[in-house]
Amino acid sequence: MLFGRNKRKPISIPSKKVSEWKYTTCNYCSTGCSIEIGLNDKKKIVTTRGHAGADVNRGKLCIKGLLEHELFDSPGRGSTPLIRSKHFEDFKPTTWDDALNTTAEKIKAIQTKYGKDTFAIVSSGQLLTEEFYTLGKLTRGCIGSNNYDGNTTLCMASAVSGYKRSFGSDGPPGCYDDFEHTHCLIAFGSNLPEQHPIIYWRLKEALEKRKFPLIVVDPRVTMLAQFADIHLPITPGTDCVLINAMMFVIINEGLQDKAYIAAHTQGFDDVRALVQDYDPKSAQHICGIDEDTIRNVARIYAKAPAAMSIWTMGINQSTHGSDGVVNINNLNLITGNMGIPGGTSLSITGQCNAMGTREWSSCSGLPGYRYLENENDRQEIADFWGIDEAFLPKKRGLTETDIFPAIETGEIKGLWLVATNPMTSMPNTARIRKALEKLEFLVVQDVYQDVETNQYAHVFFPASVWAEKEGCHTNTERRVNLTCNVLEPYADSKPDLWIFNQLAKRFKNGSKIKFPDSAEDVFDEMKSLSKGTLPNGEKRNLDISGMSYEKIIAAKGIQWPFRESDTGLKGQSRLYCDGIFPSQNGRANLLPIRFYNNNEQPCHDYPFWLNSGRVVEHFHTRTRTGKIGNCNKFSPTAYMEMNPDAANELGVEHMSYVRLTSRRGDAVVLVQLTQRVPRNMVFVPFHFHDCVNRLTLGLLDPHSRQPAFKQCSVRIEHVNQEEAARLNLECRSF
Ligand code: SF4
Repeated sequence: MLFGRNKRKPISIPSKKVSEWKYTTCNYCSTGCSIEIGLNDKKKIVTTRGHAGADVNRGKLCIKGLLEHELFDSPGRGSTPLIRSKHFEDFKPTTWDDALNTTAEKIKAIQTKYGKDTFAIVSSGQLLTEEFYTLGKLTRGCIGSNNYDGNTTLCMASAVSGYKRSFGSDGPPGCYDDFEHTHCLIAFGSNLPEQHPIIYWRLKEALEKRKFPLIVVDPRVTMLAQFADIHLPITPGTDCVLINAMMFVIINEGLQDKAYIAAHTQGFDDVRALVQDYDPKSAQHICGIDEDTIRNVARIYAKAPAAMSIWTMGINQSTHGSDGVVNINNLNLITGNMGIPGGTSLSITGQCNAMGTREWSSCSGLPGYRYLENENDRQEIADFWGIDEAFLPKKRGLTETDIFPAIETGEIKGLWLVATNPMTSMPNTARIRKALEKLEFLVVQDVYQDVETNQYAHVFFPASVWAEKEGCHTNTERRVNLTCNVLEPYADSKPDLWIFNQLAKRFKNGSKIKFPDSAEDVFDEMKSLSKGTLPNGEKRNLDISGMSYEKIIAAKGIQWPFRESDTGLKGQSRLYCDGIFPSQNGRANLLPIRFYNNNEQPCHDYPFWLNSGRVVEHFHTRTRTGKIGNCNKFSPTAYMEMNPDAANELGVEHMSYVRLTSRRGDAVVLVQLTQRVPRNMVFVPFHFHDCVNRLTLGLLDPHSRQPAFKQCSVRIEHVNQEEAARLNLECRSF
């Protein structure tokens, strides 16, 4: 009997009267789902659906993809360039020429007065790859500032750094197909069902076909932890201790893959010596996982014919995120789980094109995984672009997380933000606000003119969104897919590629360097740069020279490497299958990782850990999903998960408002009582403005400069319920 009825009514979906479907790729997360946009006979966009022929999503989409077509005419879109002299004055609409001329003149004036690097640029993981490459060309080749980074420092920098330290290069070695072959999967700090629902669906499908142990390491009982065979509720920030203790068991019981270690790695003796300090008997008191469980999990993993690790922000957003990634790589290298079906270290990337920016943006180096520090790389790029090699910096400049402190100290005077919203995304937002107010000149380039950071801008460039333009994304498994141009840009907004090209014309080197107008021509440039060999004589892995837009659409995405000589439409599924790595001698580095505890901890005054993460309905700072009716309907407001026992002690009720206070600031949230969090922890989604990042400390990882968003301490205070409800309503008016 179904709610008083004994006959189920058939579900009927009203026809959207689609007369044409157009191919594209989802512009939210890094899963890389192929989407079709449905247009009616009046060429109006009416719906989206997953592409059934795409290997990644096989017809499925999550709620964000299903509603993505509502983005095009959502409220708050930027319709024309805006300008003002002071950030507290009203913006005035202006022409593109005026906005671009003013910006170019201001950049030059700041650089002349204070130095080349005093103007900084921070972009995103949301642009198309051709746009990233062009912005890199503009920044490195024309503007010449070395203080250029992406907001990927907030999400993927630790994975990049860890891959480089272990293997000699960035690039996730595995793929989704590994789920079909693995015999054990450990997920470190990765809540797939909410953060990457379609990757979760691929994992679940593989598990339904062939059961294998799913082990989830997470301080919180996430949705993925609820489906796990073994859940390890680790003490926040102590993953390195757990992995060292696992390696202690593996090595002391002789379960390591001796042949693989001898043939393909270096540094094993150092790792073996270090892990002797992490006997599970003592490690259990640091990481909070009992010694029997550590031994059990270590043996399951080492004895599996193929085992894989995935991770997301639980590892990356930590003071030792890069070390955590290196240690996951260590675990997989000593067990021979690298480059084999089902055996890999697969970082689940965050933004849709975080990989594209890592590969081609020149933020941390030069295009195609080249290094600023390498003279040959600098010369090659300078020659290709037609500029003097001396124009390029010899080492990487400041990261996003170091740029804001540099504004505080006066080292940076001007800033250009492209598709990023630090007023919501950065830790300790009160500090970010003060930094933005101090700037002599701030340009914000975004799809939405009501994006919070625009409050502090002098010039606003309205950008086109998603399928209003054309270009590629690279997803978590190195698959390059195409976003096709389906409709004209909204009002007088412009594709980011157009904006970069126009600005380039206003700099001296802009006339020396070629800036193609079409994304496909830019892609051809990238293809040429992707060919060739590394200094160790091996072929470049990031080789896309065999791809074309036509082939990408036909294949619904192609994984790199896909070389000119490759036939068919299938790229290489896995890296390092031959055990040769892009390091100087071709071996992977096993690096000993010692744990140090420098996080803020719960204490008498601030007795709760503050953990943050995602909800399925929203993407990042809600700049886009905050404008989509159904995303807001299902997830309308910031909330806090709290353990009922802790709530009982403090007299806090379910669905009441409380104030969370840290040493940095406070935020008012709605309480949701749940056993998903332990007694000494609260969890708040990070998407909402003026909320969790008013509280976070964000200590930086020394290698990646990524902030530890997930480890700080707070206390809970009672608030006036009516006032809190009024505040909540005000926040939801966005
Ligand atoms: S899983 Fe990610 S890529 Fe796929 S539809 Fe959802 S947001 Fe888009």
